[in-house]
Parts: sequence; structure tokens; C-alpha cells
Amino acid sequence: MPIVSTPVSAVRNVRPWGGEAVDIVVDGDTITALSPAGSHPVTTGEIDGRGLLALPGFVNAHAHVDKSWWGLPWQSYGGEGGTEGRIRHERARRDELGIPSVPITARVLARSVETGTTALRTHVDVDPGLGLRGIEVVREAAAAYEGAVTVTVVAFPQDGVLRRPGVMERLAQAAHAGAEHIGGLDPATIDRDPVGQIDAILALAAETGAGVDIHLHDPAELGAFQIELILERTERLGLAGRVNIAHGFAVAQLDAVRRRDLLQRMGALDVSMTTVAPLRLPQLPLHELDEAGVRFGFGTDGIRDLWSPYGTGDLLGIAWQYARSSSLVRDEDLHRVMEIATGASAGFAGLPAARLAVGDRADIVLIDAENPMDALVRMPRREVVVGGGRLLAG
Ligand SMILES: [Zn+2]
Repeated sequence: MPIVSTPVSAVRNVRPWGGEAVDIVVDGDTITALSPAGSHPVTTGEIDGRGLLALPGFVNAHAHVDKSWWGLPWQSYGGEGGTEGRIRHERARRDELGIPSVPITARVLARSVETGTTALRTHVDVDPGLGLRGIEVVREAAAAYEGAVTVTVVAFPQDGVLRRPGVMERLAQAAHAGAEHIGGLDPATIDRDPVGQIDAILALAAETGAGVDIHLHDPAELGAFQIELILERTERLGLAGRVNIAHGFAVAQLDAVRRRDLLQRMGALDVSMTTVAPLRLPQLPLHELDEAGVRFGFGTDGIRDLWSPYGTGDLLGIAWQYARSSSLVRDEDLHRVMEIATGASAGFAGLPAARLAVGDRADIVLIDAENPMDALVRMPRREVVVGGGRLLAG
């Protein structure tokens, strides 16, 4: 059932990025003019922005909206620790909870939208047990927004690739069926065959035109070695601009010279990174990634699922966590974090970068804050959310 009904013609009296008050004029899904506040003729379908801060919609560059138990009664974690323990726990209980499910995924999307997210890249489990059902569930839940919320899919082999017969075939099926990206998972520690998994995934991407988005938790030199394997194949197969490394904890754990060399090579091949701002690990270094030209985005990762009961779906919370645990305090850094949390990361969802300029997609969030820095450190509630030129919340 469609969710979105109200097209927006203008968002009046708002302060883009904390600047002077303007009226943002919208036609269809596009911002067509920015005029001084009050100068735009009154039309139907306009929103009174009451002088609020306006930002581009948040972009969740790494989510798992297919596997949450959002809206179900509290689920106690009963599995073992570690990646393998969590995978087993999820495998043991997902059928009993009816996961993946359209209503649950719809609730997770609704929660994301009400906190200002208008575009997501979500990993979706694909394995011989589920086949492509998870992708169908996500597509159906996303379709209710009729394009107002952008959802792109990574076909994700959560239980490993080469070690599980049939997974490569499912990933190929998913890519041929239109999954925008093919995922991978710790080629060394899960498959115990880094060359094999990386060769297989990147060859499939080259063959199908899909992008690649590999979860890489492996630390320090083991992780760096696998990033090098990914870079070599990205170059050889002509996949520049289509490969992302999710987590990439290793990058933050290398010595400075080794990290600089690796980041420069990533920047040259436009291999991007996504981080979920892990609490107990060093953060990806903002300045070093920017200097090397490595695009990066923030993600929530799992949201209240059989891996962990944590996760609220609020991307601004992840941006806060990243900024706080990176000890960022200067305005230019906090501002940059807000750019990365919003339109600068639109490419992760297959959209052009957006800054609330004329010609940008009308993904707009209004917040009662003085400026982007104030919004970041204080995380006020989102007053109004517009996606693709339509009112989604507020
Ligand atoms: Zn993840």
C-alpha cells in the first residue's frame, strides 16, 4: 500500500545549513529555486518551516533492514559471542520470528524516515535457505514509498561465500535480478580463502555490472592485505568507482605511513568506505580519508536484530558517535561530518551528491537547531522530513 501522498511545492522560511532564511521551491522531486524567505508566492502544498535548520536528508550507507525484529516483543540474545556465534544464533531463530518480513522491514524503514533518512543502502541476506526472498521483502517494503525514499540493495552472503555451496549461484541470481551490489564477508577469516572469495565476487561484479560492497572486519595487516587484493582486482577488472569496503577496521589500525599509502591507492581507484562508528575501535580518520579523496559514509549496520538488540535506526546518532569518539570539536570538522551524514553520501544510494542547491533532489530534513554543528552534538528530533519532493514526516 502506498505511504506517500502529499507533494510539496515549497518549504518556506528555512535556513539551509544554518544560513539566511529562504523559501525552497520544489517541482516534482527537484529543488528548482531558493528565494529570500517570504518572497515565493503562496501555493498549495507548501510547508511552513518556521525558521528551522534545513539539511539534505540523511543517507544510511550501511543498513540491514531485512533482519530486524523491530516491533516484536523483546528478544533476549541467546547465542554465543563473536561473528560465528552471531551467525549461528541468527540462523537458529530467524524462521521462528518470521524474518525476513515485509511488515517488520516496513517498520524499520518508517523509523529511519521519521529520523530524517531519505536514502539507504541496505545489505540483504542471500543464502541457499532464503534464496532471494529477503530482497523481495525489501523491494516490497520500499515500493510503498513510490520512490520518495531511495533504497538500494547489496546481496549479502552473511554466512560466507565459498564455504557454503550454492551461495555464489544465489549472488549471481541476485545480480542478474537487479541487485545493485554484491556483498562479501571477511574473505580470510570466514571463508579462509581471501584470494578465492575476492576473485569470485569481483569477477561476478565485472560480468554483471553490479557494484561490490564487502564487509571487512579483519584487523590490521590481515585486513590491509585483503584491501590490497581488492584494489589489485578493482584496477585489473576496471571496477573503479564501484567498490566499497564496509567497516575496514584495519585502516584505522595501521601505522600512519602504511595507512597513507593504502588510502592514496583507494582514492585513486575510487574505492569507498562505510563506517558504523564502532565504540571500542579506533575511528576511520576524517582528515586522512578526505586528503586521499576516499569517499566514506555512515551506516547504522543492524538495527535491533538477532545479532544485537542495539540500534535505533537514527543515522544522526551514528554521526554523533563518530564525531564524539573521534574527538572532533572544531566547526569545520563537525560541519564535514554532517555533510558526510547527508547529501555528500547520496552516491552510496545511487543518487547524485546534494547540498540543498537548485537542481538537487528535494530530500530535506528540518531540525530545531541553530546550525549543523548544533544539530550534530544535540541530536534534536526531526521536525519535518521531505523525500523526493513529498512530505514523509512532520
Ligand atoms: Zn553490516
